Amino acid sequence: MIQELSLKDSLISPRILVKYELVSNNFLFGQGSFHKTKGEMISDGKVKYIKVVLNLPLNQSFTYKVPAELSPYIKTGTKVLVPLKRRVLSGFVLEETERKDGRRNLKEIIKVFKDFLPLSDSLIKLGRWISYYYYCSLGEALHSISPIQETFRIQKKKGNEGETLAGQKPGKLNCLIEKSDENIFVPQGKGVFLFKTKDTKKSNLLYLSLIKKTLQRERQVILIVPEINYLLPLKELIHSHYPGGIALLHSRLSSRQRYEEWYRISRGEVCLAIGTRLAIFAPFTKLGLIIVEEEENSAYKQIEAPRYHLREVAIKRGEIENFPVVLSTGSPSLESWYRAKKGVYETIEFYQGNNKSPYISIVDMRKEKDRILSSALEEGIKKNLEENKSTLLFLNRRGFANFLLCLDCGKVLYCPNCNISLTFHLQGKLVCHYCDYQEKAPRVCPSCKGRYFRRTGLGTEQLEIEVKKRFSKAYVRRGDLDVIKSSLLYKKLGSDLADKKIDILVGTQLIIKEEILSHMNLVGIVIADGLLNLPDFRAGEYLFHLFNKIRRLMKPQGRLVIQTYNPAHYAIETLKEKKDNFYRIESRIRKDLGYPPYLHWVRILLEGSVKTKVEKVAETMRESLEKEKTEFLGPSSCPFAKIRGKYRYHMILKNENLSYIREILDKKLSPLFNGIQGIRGTVDVDPLQTM
Ligand SMILES: [Zn+2]
Ligand SMILES: [Zn+2]
Repeated sequence: MIQELSLKDSLISPRILVKYELVSNNFLFGQGSFHKTKGEMISDGKVKYIKVVLNLPLNQSFTYKVPAELSPYIKTGTKVLVPLKRRVLSGFVLEETERKDGRRNLKEIIKVFKDFLPLSDSLIKLGRWISYYYYCSLGEALHSISPIQETFRIQKKKGNEGETLAGQKPGKLNCLIEKSDENIFVPQGKGVFLFKTKDTKKSNLLYLSLIKKTLQRERQVILIVPEINYLLPLKELIHSHYPGGIALLHSRLSSRQRYEEWYRISRGEVCLAIGTRLAIFAPFTKLGLIIVEEEENSAYKQIEAPRYHLREVAIKRGEIENFPVVLSTGSPSLESWYRAKKGVYETIEFYQGNNKSPYISIVDMRKEKDRILSSALEEGIKKNLEENKSTLLFLNRRGFANFLLCLDCGKVLYCPNCNISLTFHLQGKLVCHYCDYQEKAPRVCPSCKGRYFRRTGLGTEQLEIEVKKRFSKAYVRRGDLDVIKSSLLYKKLGSDLADKKIDILVGTQLIIKEEILSHMNLVGIVIADGLLNLPDFRAGEYLFHLFNKIRRLMKPQGRLVIQTYNPAHYAIETLKEKKDNFYRIESRIRKDLGYPPYLHWVRILLEGSVKTKVEKVAETMRESLEKEKTEFLGPSSCPFAKIRGKYRYHMILKNENLSYIREILDKKLSPLFNGIQGIRGTVDVDPLQTM
């Protein structure tokens, strides 16, 4: 990403300006703000040479000259603007360096962001770890740690907002909840604590209590949530107990708002930040606790470089800065369950009072012929309508239903090697997208000799029409992308539900939110098989988390009806069980097949517009890998084989030891896909999605 060049409040070396004026007449002066810059030049500094890392996928630093008047502002972690070829990029100062001999004409830095405090040593350390672990450049890692691109003039806020840590009176902290406070375990020292809870309201009280105790110890707190819509209710709740300032950090802030929040945090003016993924990098200097809400949520994995997982970064930051990290969950990720079992995390179960939860019915759709709604679900809806209660019908969002499902026995054709569903291709082929196993689509089901297969998914519109036909007097509404994207329509959906203006709501993952589900007495999963048969080894786990979440959020005296062609699947059967049987079965399968968390996975994705070229690169990589002592899958085309005109192939390296994979990447593979024209190669360490 190229940084916008901004001269506001910056210190400019006049010589640089002249130099650039010679190169390009309106390069800098064209901005028209030169005369507004402050003239705080300090001329008694010394010329320095510095190493700078840039926001580029290059694992190297660049050496620049610092003119004397800027050198007093240069420290490790300072953000600067530098020229590179014909571009201007932002970078971070790593260290001072000797002037290298034989390197005359070193370029000078253009600007120092003197209003930013330099990145702290511990954040730089965190950046180094991200760069190493997630196989990205240090420059990319540091730029995501400090995502500020411009400076703004800060206006002092009045009232409580600007309270400092030292200025916070203990009396005010006592406004936080008092009830049953003393019984709550408060983690001290380093370590990771897995808090299991089945009730959001109770977990919110727990957060309040933990926050309070941490602030009392004069330490700061970061609370992280998976999605923006979790933030406002949480902020309101905390505000009603805690009058101090709260910084809100998420991706929809304007650059000014983001700068203001970063500014307040780095100067200790607020002690509590709540936000989405990026809040993990809030530049607190006396951090005492990080809470991660819903740690199993897959939104915590960053899709673009650096492809970090928030949970891992939180744990690392706690380790570096020596404080506890709390992972809160209703159904832990398999990774966390596994670590807790091994004693890496401490588990704390937080179930209080009577945890009544909705009754689950599993409906075998093989007995329902071609019906969309089973008789059990229809009966439930009828009863709900009579009692003036609301129903939600859920359909899987991803229309990725290209698997073959036998309507007689409910079996789906799976890869014999990888335990994921085979994807149906129009040419009548079935393909495994992990190992490239292929077979001809059978005419009769290999299990039951049945002849009827189903392979197309059902859309929400179709379902809405069907439901309106069945229940002509009911108020049916569809909650889809348009509704969710507009906050006004979304609010209306919530208030209409509260006012009982909706009898049946039809929707996808997008409406699995507390504000909506808390009105629901009946939730019908129209077809669970779409989720179950995603070509991803985590399909079962995703289903398990989603259905558990629905169960947690809907009315506890309600009923969850799951329609499926595969009622005996362990991810569905174990939903009804209190013990962690799902995890036991799932972890055994993962162990047998060499899947995470038993082995690390590193996915290499190749994209390019010329298919044969991508295939050729993939093939040379395979040849090179066969000489190495590591397992790998592929290369094969991705489940989404072509996106925006680019053909997509991937391969997956598997090993217990990540550093061994890194070594192969550095020495053998990277040169095969990096810097090749027409090929974009990306590396994803511990990938969550492989589509
Ligand atoms: Zn069959
Ligand atoms: Zn396979």
